[in-house]
Amino acid sequence: MTSPWELPDFDGHEAIHQFCDAESGLRAIIAIHSTHLGPAGGGVRFWHYATSQDAMTDALRLSRGMSYKNAMAGLAMGGGKGVILAGADRVKTNATISRFAAWVESLNGQYITAQDVGMSLDDMICINETTKFVSGLPPKPGRAGGDPGPSTAYGVFLGVQAAVRYKLGRDDLAGVHVAIQGVGSVGGGLARHLKQAGATLTLADLDATRTQMMADELSAECVAANDIHKIAADVFSPCALGGIINDQTLGEIAAPIVAGGANNQLARHDHGDRLVEREILFAPDYVINAGGIINVATGYFNDEGVEGVEKRINNIPALLSEIWAEADEKRVCPAKIADEKARRLIGR
Ligand code: NAD
Repeated sequence: MTSPWELPDFDGHEAIHQFCDAESGLRAIIAIHSTHLGPAGGGVRFWHYATSQDAMTDALRLSRGMSYKNAMAGLAMGGGKGVILAGADRVKTNATISRFAAWVESLNGQYITAQDVGMSLDDMICINETTKFVSGLPPKPGRAGGDPGPSTAYGVFLGVQAAVRYKLGRDDLAGVHVAIQGVGSVGGGLARHLKQAGATLTLADLDATRTQMMADELSAECVAANDIHKIAADVFSPCALGGIINDQTLGEIAAPIVAGGANNQLARHDHGDRLVEREILFAPDYVINAGGIINVATGYFNDEGVEGVEKRINNIPALLSEIWAEADEKRVCPAKIADEKARRLIGR
């Protein structure tokens, strides 16, 4: 494997911890991008990667994304990310989780973990048996915290609404067609909010049963996962994994707006420039999907109740609109403007 320092996604990361359990062979990475604003906060992902370098690349990109996201959300947190390398059988046991928890504990609070793809609330409770450096635990009554999915989905919903207002000049979502890729925690929650607001939905997920159940519940159309970005909808909403805007998909995206919850949607920076050329409005992912970390971080620091969370999430549309206006003025991708703002906030 190429050294992490040599990888294109290395960005002055403060520390990259690689762990291996000699007995079980379990491997994990904890990447600390920045602690400028506070301890490095970011979820842990349980995923089967084709190569360990793919896992490292994911950890580098996701941890930088968390630095940017936490800074833009106004949180006293730096950015980090955990990646547990699942085996081909994708089996996850309490022993796996406890081992990861011990690795988090060994960093003495430099990294605060949370739930991400492939992890559950029960896993967070299990982690908390070994370390206190975990956020997203079940909240006490009236307090913030818990599963970040619903807060993320709500923030993305507000962001989609703002994008439709900005790009299409429409104040309501009645009849607005949204194509959602991935109907898990975020995409599924988003779909329900959109349906309630009167939107028309097309859904796709690699899990065909999940797609069908969601489509039945929301009277939505379903298409194959490979085709969802090609739908001539008003909004394409990536809510699965990163890198979906790439050389292959870019020319095929048929919607005038891309706004969704997935992290790291642009496979490369220049894909953002090509979105601008195609006059497609892009919602920078870490700005639109910050709802979950806002909820989780607020719960972890125990400094504000649910009202504080709502106030911050309700600010997502204003922040996006400010970024879009500046991007339009400079004729650059909104992701570039968001990155510049975030980097200033983390002292880079
Ligand atoms: P999830 O595991 O609950 O759901 C993801 C869904 O996407 C699954 O149903 C999966 O089958 C599907 N999927 C995977 N690859 C796909 C593909 N190529 N095409 C179609 N469907 C595919 O995960 P989630 O919590 O909903 O997270 C989704 C995305 O949002 C991830 O990129 C995650 O990093 C990001 N995110 C999540 C949160 C959160 O609070 N959960 C916060 C910020 C960002």
